[in-house]
Amino acid sequence: MARSGVGANGGRPVALVTGGGTGLGRAIAGAFADDGFDLVIASRDPEHLADGARSLSARGARVVTIPTDVRQSDQVDRMVDRIRDEFGRLDVLVNNAAGNFVAPAERITPNGWRAVVGIVLDGTFLCCRASFPLLREADAPSVVNIVASYAWMAGPGTAHSAAAKAGVVALTRTLAVEWARFGIRVNAVAPGPIRTEGTDRQLWTSEALVEQIRAGIPLGRFGTPEEVAEAVRFLAGPRAAYITGQVLAVDGGQWLGKGVMDLRDDGTVSSGPRS
Ligand code: NAP
Repeated sequence: MARSGVGANGGRPVALVTGGGTGLGRAIAGAFADDGFDLVIASRDPEHLADGARSLSARGARVVTIPTDVRQSDQVDRMVDRIRDEFGRLDVLVNNAAGNFVAPAERITPNGWRAVVGIVLDGTFLCCRASFPLLREADAPSVVNIVASYAWMAGPGTAHSAAAKAGVVALTRTLAVEWARFGIRVNAVAPGPIRTEGTDRQLWTSEALVEQIRAGIPLGRFGTPEEVAEAVRFLAGPRAAYITGQVLAVDGGQWLGKGVMDLRDDGTVSSGPRS
């Protein structure tokens, strides 16, 4: 029997997904629901949480929604207290909440910088820190942080997010080593371009831009939220029991790029700007 034992929810494992009411977070939470987890989803907007809870409940999970701003340590601590009260356990933490907007670095205001870094980097740390006491009691605890490949490449137009995600990669690797002795695995998933309501609104605001991005993806298409969720499910689960401190890109080969020479269908190569 799990060290977590039969908790208040009758022994079902529990996953916390921050930002689990929308976009990728909702798909990730859905994958855990399908695997028999109960879910906690946490973010700021109660409507996002209510929408997410409806779709997750329909998949058979018990869902608890906890309005939380992950930048605020007191709110994060209260969120974890509530999880302890409701379930008495926490098996998986997915740090998915993020904020982002496109602006050249010199035009990012101090407030804009703090907002993005606060959600992504501070929020990930605060959720890890607060969840630690519950995670260490779980049988096979796991943390998965959602990052982006510009954490190790360049993120022109999103300097705040790139810097914050780079910090999350460093945190992922550091916690993987520090928390290995507690049996807590810590990994990250770096999605490539995935169209969601949020990205369409904030990042990819024209079809011309969408086409330009698509042309730079070796597999030739955007990914789906479900494809990202599948990678998170794998890393959090028993088949990844010997994997910790890793970052798995789910991006159709985007960050590797097509190379300087572009191989055409007829076997010839072209160089210069990508088509
Ligand atoms: P999204 O739908 O906008 O998701 C962001 C989520 O974060 C929302 O549910 C939002 O909920 C929550 N959130 C924002 N600020 C918060 C705060 N202060 N406290 C708590 N929750 C907060 O966008 P998405 O595309 O699904 O992104 C999900 C993750 O994937 C992010 O980490 C993003 O960086 C990463 N990612 C996405 C792509 C992509 O192409 N979609 C590519 C690379 C990486 P509330 O508004 O209710 O707070």
